[in-house]
Amino acid sequence: MGTPGAGKGTQAKLLAGRFGACHISTGDVLREAVRGGSPLGLEAKRYMEQGLLVPDDVVIGIVAERLDAADCQGGFLLDGFPRTVAQAKALDALLARRGQPLGGVLLIALPREAALERLAGRRVCDRCGGQLVQRGDDREETVRHRMEVYARETAPVLEHYRAAGLLREIDGTGSREDVFRRVAAGV
Ligand code: ADP
Repeated sequence: MGTPGAGKGTQAKLLAGRFGACHISTGDVLREAVRGGSPLGLEAKRYMEQGLLVPDDVVIGIVAERLDAADCQGGFLLDGFPRTVAQAKALDALLARRGQPLGGVLLIALPREAALERLAGRRVCDRCGGQLVQRGDDREETVRHRMEVYARETAPVLEHYRAAGLLREIDGTGSREDVFRRVAAGV
């Protein structure tokens, strides 16, 4: 878990690689669907380009399907999900049915200003200062919406996991290697 720009996707990839777990990123699945132009993609696009959340039943369906895949039977890592309390409750029910409780929830904590700076950095090349091919939802206006949605919808999910004794907070400042050392030590 973590705000947009906190480094969830980067750390999730490193962590899944280190432990051989499958990496389930709802953002990646949705972006892939948008690129492919499927009915799911067409629906998701309307929300994503505004920085809004895709409806709960859509993302819950995606996660349920991925959990059944052969590569996820030895362990899995969720990235970008759950993002609402309803998603967290649906996940609890899904995992209880499967007899696979969550081992832990990592929160990558990064001050808002630092996260905004990183997201702005995804827009401009460090070498020439030119515009990069950017993720459509990294535009300034959309980033602001994503931050607001995080505070309103996703921050309460942290309380859900804190109450369950599962939440571990990791300092997200510094290089990706610095953060990964802390992440790997925390699992
Ligand atoms: P970030 O965490 O940097 O905002 P993600 O790649 O995780 O990026 O998500 C990008 C977008 O995909 C979100 O702004 C949202 O529109 C959609 N999305 C991803 N995961 C979920 C989810 N669990 N619930 C609803 N929408 C989601």
